[in-house]
Amino acid sequence: MEIVVKEALNVNIVDPNINIIEREIKKELRKAGKRFLRETLKKMEQKILSLEKTRMCECGGRKESRGRVYRNIKSLVGEIEYKRVKLRCRDCGKASFPLDEQINLKPDKNATLGLIEQSLSLGVETAYDKASEIQEKLTGMYVSGRQIQNWAKSEGEKVKEKIEKDRSEIFDNAGIPKVEEKRKRVFVQVDGTFVKEREHDRGIECKVGAIYSKKIKESKDRFKILDKRTYASTESIDTFCENFIAECNRWGVWEADEILFVGDGASWIEKMGRDYFPESVYLLDFWHLAKNIAKALGKEHRRAAENWTKEVKKTCEAKQLLRRIKSIYPHIRDPDRKEKIRNLYKYVNNNRKGIENWRKVNCLGASGVIEKTVDLTVCRRFKKRGMSWLTKGLTGLLALRLLKLNGEWNKYWREQGVPV
Ligand SMILES: [Zn+2]
Repeated sequence: MEIVVKEALNVNIVDPNINIIEREIKKELRKAGKRFLRETLKKMEQKILSLEKTRMCECGGRKESRGRVYRNIKSLVGEIEYKRVKLRCRDCGKASFPLDEQINLKPDKNATLGLIEQSLSLGVETAYDKASEIQEKLTGMYVSGRQIQNWAKSEGEKVKEKIEKDRSEIFDNAGIPKVEEKRKRVFVQVDGTFVKEREHDRGIECKVGAIYSKKIKESKDRFKILDKRTYASTESIDTFCENFIAECNRWGVWEADEILFVGDGASWIEKMGRDYFPESVYLLDFWHLAKNIAKALGKEHRRAAENWTKEVKKTCEAKQLLRRIKSIYPHIRDPDRKEKIRNLYKYVNNNRKGIENWRKVNCLGASGVIEKTVDLTVCRRFKKRGMSWLTKGLTGLLALRLLKLNGEWNKYWREQGVPV
C-alpha cells in the first residue's frame, strides 16, 4: 500500500543567530512530525476502507461503521491523538478497528514499539527517571520513568518467555548441540551478588554465569575478552543451573578441548562445577580469595592479608595459607574475629583444589573476570546508591540488559518488527 504525504515546513526566523535558528527548526520539525503521522494515518484509513475485503467478517457477515473513536498514541515522532473508524459485524457482532489492525498497533499498547525500544534502550543503562530525562532532552518526547519501568516489566517477561522456549527446544533436541566453532580452552565462570529488596529486609540474589574463550593482552595486567556470553537471573539455584547449562550447550562449551570452571568459592557453585562440568578443571577466583582473606583479617592486618594473597598467587599452594591461618588463630581474642578466621580456614580448605589447579592451567589473567562481569551486568544498573527492587521488576530488566550485553538487542527488536 503506497501512501504519499506532502507537508510544507514553515520556519519563521526573526533573530539571525544559529542558536535560535536551530531551535526554531527543531521545534517546527517536531510539530511537522506529528502532522505527518496524523495525515498518513488518515490517508491510510481512507484507502483501507475503500477495499471490499475490509467490510467482510471472518464469519461471512458484513461489517458496518459504528462511527469514529479517538485513540491516543505515543510514538517516536511525538504523542498524537487520531480518530479511526470502528466497524461491527452485523451477524456475529465482533468489533474491529481496521486502521489499527493494518498498522499493527495492538489494542493493549499506548505506544509504538519503536518508542518502547528507544525508552528501554536507555532504561537498561541508567535509572528510569534519568532515562526519562535523557529521552525528553534528546527527542522532545516525554515518557515518565514509571512508564519505562512498566514497559521493562512487560517486555522483560516476553524476553524470559523466549528464553524459556529456546531452552525447551534445546532439551527436546538433546544430543545435537549447534556448534559454530571448536574451541581449545573455554572458561566458565559463576558468581552471585545480592541486590537490595524493596519491601523486606533481605537481598535478592542475582546469579551470574559467563562463558568465554578468546582473551587478548592489552597491556601488562589488562586483558580484553572478545567472545564473552553472560547469563544472569534471580532464579533458584536449580533453575539457574538449567538455564545456564542451556546457554553453555548452545555456545558449544562441551565441544572444547578443555573447560576451566571458575567459581567464587561458594559451595553451590563448586557443586555446580562437579555436577554439570565433571571433566572441567575447578579454579577458585583469586579476586574472591583475596577479598575473603582481607575480610577475615580485618583492616588492622591489611598488610598481612595482602602478603598472604600474593604468596598464594605465586605458589598456587593452599597448604602454606592454611598453616598461616592456623598459626594466628590462638592469638585472636575477639570471638567475632575468631569465628571469621575459622570460616576462612574452612573456605580455603574446601577450595584447596581450586587453588592448586591454577598451577596446571597457567593463566592467571583469568582471575577477576567474573567480578567485572558481575559489576557490568548487575552492580552498575541495580546496585547504585538508593536503589531497591521488587523481584519481578528486577528480573525483567535484567533479562533486557542481557540482550544488550550479549549483543542481541537489535536482533530481538527486529524479530518484534522494529527496524532498529
Ligand atoms: Zn462476523
